[in-house]
Order: sequence, then C-alpha cells, then structure tokens
Amino acid sequence: MKPRALVTRHVYPAAIPILQEHCVVDYQDSYEVLSEPRLMRKLALAEGVVCQLTDPISRAVIEAAPKLKVISQVAVGYDNIDVTAATERGIVVTNTPGVLTEATADMTFALLLAAARKLPAAERYLRAGKWQRWDVDLLCGGDVHGQTIGIVGLGRVGQAVARRARGFGMRVLYTARHEAEHALEEELQATRLPLDTLLAESDYVSLHVPLTDETHHMISVPQLCAMRSHAILINTARGPVIDERALVAALEEGLIGGAALDVFEHEPTIPPALLELDNVVLLPHIGSAVSSVRSLMCALAARDCAAVLGGHEPPSHVVNPEVLR
Ligand code: NAP
Repeated sequence: MKPRALVTRHVYPAAIPILQEHCVVDYQDSYEVLSEPRLMRKLALAEGVVCQLTDPISRAVIEAAPKLKVISQVAVGYDNIDVTAATERGIVVTNTPGVLTEATADMTFALLLAAARKLPAAERYLRAGKWQRWDVDLLCGGDVHGQTIGIVGLGRVGQAVARRARGFGMRVLYTARHEAEHALEEELQATRLPLDTLLAESDYVSLHVPLTDETHHMISVPQLCAMRSHAILINTARGPVIDERALVAALEEGLIGGAALDVFEHEPTIPPALLELDNVVLLPHIGSAVSSVRSLMCALAARDCAAVLGGHEPPSHVVNPEVLR
C-alpha cells in the first residue's frame, strides 16, 4: 500500500501529481491554517507532510505523529519546525533553498530603493490629491549609489543582495559567523566586520540570517543605538530577528532613518505604532512571491517528500542529514 502524505494547505498544482506517484495524498486545498488539534489528528495517519511556515510543527505535533518519516517545508526558513524533536525520531526534514534566492534578493533591493526614495509615501501623497506642482525639495530621499550596505548573513540571499549592491556602486560590508571564501570576498568586494562596526558604518543594513536561538532579537536596543541616524534597516529574513518594540521606539525617536520590512515578529499582526509611521515600508511577507518561484518551491518540497517515502531517490535538500546516516 502507498504511504500517506498530508499537504497542509493550498499549494501550486505541480506538487500534487509528484506526490500522487508515490503516495496517497490528503490534500487540504484551502488557505486556512489547520488548528493544532486538527493537524495532530491528520498527522496521526501520515507518513509524510508537505507544510508551510504558517504550520507550527512543534514537538507536541511531532509526538502525535507516530508514523511520520518526512517533513517537507515549502520555504528555505524552517523555524516553525522543531528540528531537534524530528531528528530524535529519525524524521527527515527538508526545505527549498536556492530556487527563491534571486526573487528574495530582488525584493530586498525593491525595499531598499522604496525606502531610500520614499516611494510609498510619494504614491500616498499623489493618490491623496496633494500634488500641486514640481518643487525642488518635494519628497527628496537619500542616495543609494555610492552608499554603504551592511549585509548581516552572507549566505545565498545575502550574496545575491551583495551582487545587486555592487551593480549600484555601493560599498559592501558583511557580518557572518564564518569568513567567506577569499574568491567570494574578492568578487563581491565585500569586507567582513563585527556586527557593531558594520552597524556604525552602514547607510543601509539588510538582514539575511535564519531565525535561530542565536539570531532571535539580534537587532535590539544596543544595535539600533549603534546605527547611523539616517540609516535604513531592511528585513526580508524573519521578523523575530528584530526586537520589534525596540525598532518602533527607535523609529519614533529618530534614532535611525527608516525601516523596510517584509517580515514581522507576530505575523500577520503589525504593531499599530508601526502603521502610523511614515518612514517605514511594510510588505506582507512576499519576499519570494513570484508565481514561477513559488511553483518550483512547492514542486521541490513534494519531490523530497515523495523521495523519502518512495525510496526511489535521495531527497535533495535535507536540513538534518544526520538522520540519513
Ligand atoms: P543561507 O544560505 O543559509 O544563509 C544564511 C546565512 O546566515 C549563512 O551564510 C550563515 O553563515 C549566516 N548566519 C547564520 N547564523 C548567523 C549568526 N548568528 N550571525 C551571523 N550570520 C549568521 O540562507 P538563505 O537562503 O540566504 O536565506 C536566509 C534566510 O532568509 C532564511 O533562513 C529565511 O528565513 C529568510 N528568507 C525569507 C524570505 C522571505 O520570503 N522574506 C525568502 C527567502 C529566505 P554562517 O553560518 O557562516 O554564519
């Protein structure tokens, strides 16, 4: 009998036949997020699950899934999954890196440009019928060309952002736990600095670290105080990397110049004070939202889920490879 795989929410159609070739598919073709009790009931029968960052795959959920062999996340970040609990049970966890890198870097740069040149504020101004004439100092923003960008986390997305920044003639600084290879530093003309120095020297600070215990609230009061008063903070990584209360206070007090955020600490809840501020650009977590990219992400997650359950090929993007040894 074919193994059973749960698809927790609506996905791009390409994913379903890939799974059906090797599994009986329980497809929740809905935008609703399964409540934890329903998720547990469904997973009680499942050997595989294709899930999204909205699904809390906690230790309790994993314990309620005695047959589970694979958790395939439709995202590169997997902070919603208790990987330690999965690994203890020998459950393979997979994600979808790579296919979304360029789209996310594009969106990071769109946010940088939008914040620098006040695009949302300018459009609000025009739509409100406030535009009377061309004025020499109307809605002037900051330079991008020739400015310094500080990239926090020089992984796939961080590097793709650095390449765009070089195209804009920017000076590139980065911080990471490990030094990048010399050839990469040369290609990107990127200089590694400790976080506090990077913050003090950057006109734009862009976050590209995964959300982990180490990166939770990595940007809080001391880091915001270290930033330049005109600097703009961009976050397309994960919301809790920034202490959102500290950020709102810093923006209100003019400690930093602005923020451009695709992700938030308690999505989809946005602090009301943030919505009131004019020097922020806010997006509803659409960093990788390109149809072709999202379709590839769904197919990749389905392929890895089917690979583990079917045993016909090794899964391609395993987060916890120790379970396969
Ligand atoms: P990646 O290739 O794994 O890069 C992450 C980088 O962060 C690595 O180079 C890592 O380098 C560095 N890092 C990890 N912990 C760190 C720490 N404590 N201090 C400094 N650097 C640290 O991942 P990616 O594909 O670039 O994606 C990055 C993150 O972006 C994902 O985890 C995801 O959460 C987010 N993302 C969001 C969207 C969106 O829709 N908004 C889309 C794509 C990705 P070292 O290990 O050498 O330190």
